[in-house]
Amino acid sequence: MTPIQIDSMIDKICGMYPTTPVPRNGMKALWREDALLLSIDVKQGREVMVLVEKNNTIPSLPEIKTMVRTIMKGTVGSVPPCTVCNGTGWDDGLRIEDGIVVHDLYTVVDVRGKVCTTVIRCECMK
Ligand SMILES: [Zn+2]
Repeated sequence: MTPIQIDSMIDKICGMYPTTPVPRNGMKALWREDALLLSIDVKQGREVMVLVEKNNTIPSLPEIKTMVRTIMKGTVGSVPPCTVCNGTGWDDGLRIEDGIVVHDLYTVVDVRGKVCTTVIRCECMK
């Protein structure tokens, strides 16, 4: 998330617990510089908000980071690796059909006219 998205997340959290006094600006200054919060995407941010709702109080930065790690674990565990690239994000053309390895290499011709095998960005990463 961007620092602005983190700010808006904090506004939402404070909105959930309007009776809790909180030094909102100090909280923003701290949270928007946190590498873990900056590294997650908006979708993960939304999942974290569900945990914040269940928390029944405004979480501290260490608490919110624990929540981020919880949802990250959930995401990794529930998505099986892509069968094309084995989760690497790069497709080398290797396919297994009926137990037989079918290797359709991707090739490119380099500047000197030499044919090289290559990998392509896997569909799952697009
Ligand atoms: Zn893939």
